[in-house]
Amino acid sequence: LIGEHTDYNGGLVLPTATPQRTRVELARRRDSTARLWSSEADPAAAPRAYAVGDEQPVGNWTDYVQGVTASLHASGYDLPVGFDLRVTTEIPLGSGLASSAALEVALLRGLRLLFDLPLDDLTIATIAHHAETDFVGAPVGVMDQVASSMGEEQTALYLDTRSMAIARVPIPEALEIVVIHSGIVHQHAGGEYTVRRRECERAAELLGVAQLRDLDEADLDRIAALPEPLARRARHVVTENARVVTAVMALRRGELARLGALINASHASLRGDFAVSTPEIDRLVELAQAEPGVYGARLTGGGFGGAILALVPVEQGHGVAMRVATRYAAETGKRPTVMMPRDAAR
Ligand code: ADP
Ligand code: MG
Repeated sequence: LIGEHTDYNGGLVLPTATPQRTRVELARRRDSTARLWSSEADPAAAPRAYAVGDEQPVGNWTDYVQGVTASLHASGYDLPVGFDLRVTTEIPLGSGLASSAALEVALLRGLRLLFDLPLDDLTIATIAHHAETDFVGAPVGVMDQVASSMGEEQTALYLDTRSMAIARVPIPEALEIVVIHSGIVHQHAGGEYTVRRRECERAAELLGVAQLRDLDEADLDRIAALPEPLARRARHVVTENARVVTAVMALRRGELARLGALINASHASLRGDFAVSTPEIDRLVELAQAEPGVYGARLTGGGFGGAILALVPVEQGHGVAMRVATRYAAETGKRPTVMMPRDAAR
């Protein structure tokens, strides 16, 4: 919902779960092989395989699976045998809607069941996060994995990524969430993401703090003295953390106009200070913000393509989504997909 690019800075996030699902089917094997199918990543291909206990990154989607079993091992859970795995999903891959976390969490839940592993949901999120950062090598924060493992629809998950404290905040019934995928998947998001992360780390170093989380709006003058682009990057993180705190308050009090203004401000900051938006995403956000009744809209996910979300009055989600998506498609020639509300035409 809000709190973007704050998680790897030890900051605050406020995600919620979308209705889309990733499903895994698992069967025990007698040997230590894992055989893997994914209808999304490898349509009609022969299964991929690796030896459980001998995981090696190969640079394709199986790294996420290998990362999970390697990360289980590193946490002290060894699987007695291998498995056959088939993955299907409704989540678009590489679009900022956390398909990678969904795969890791679904697999860990499946393995928990199959091998009777004593894992709670927060441990699953942590092991999934290690799989992605340590094995796959994507330096992501922990938000997606926690949201995937512990999130619920119509509830916001207020997470402090430093203490891992979690509070659940109900989303008022008067509010409907619209999510529209721009139809753009950026291959280079991984590279730019890493650049942003390094910029944040460098800014923290120059300001003499462990993480940007240690700063707040009282430090904005010091932040402004950093060389560019570090000043703008740090300003986004510090103001975004503050917006999350205010958004939680607004959500709890049902102050939807205020919440919407924070969502709009988050987008402006991601576009300007953090430079992770694109012209197409900006246009989608603009179209959504211009709809009568819409409280606010922003890009959601890491950026460089992907999806937007808009907060709208209940019962109006379908109409808003269809009008925005139709206009966007006509203007850009791209093929948007309405992810929420789920019953909106695709
Ligand atoms: P996001 O998590 O925002 O969708 P990422 O770049 O973090 O984007 O993760 C996308 C990658 O995760 C895919 O390129 C693929 O390697 C892997 N992945 C996610 N879901 C699946 C799936 N259902 N089957 C196979 N691989 C998947
Ligand atoms: Mg991901």
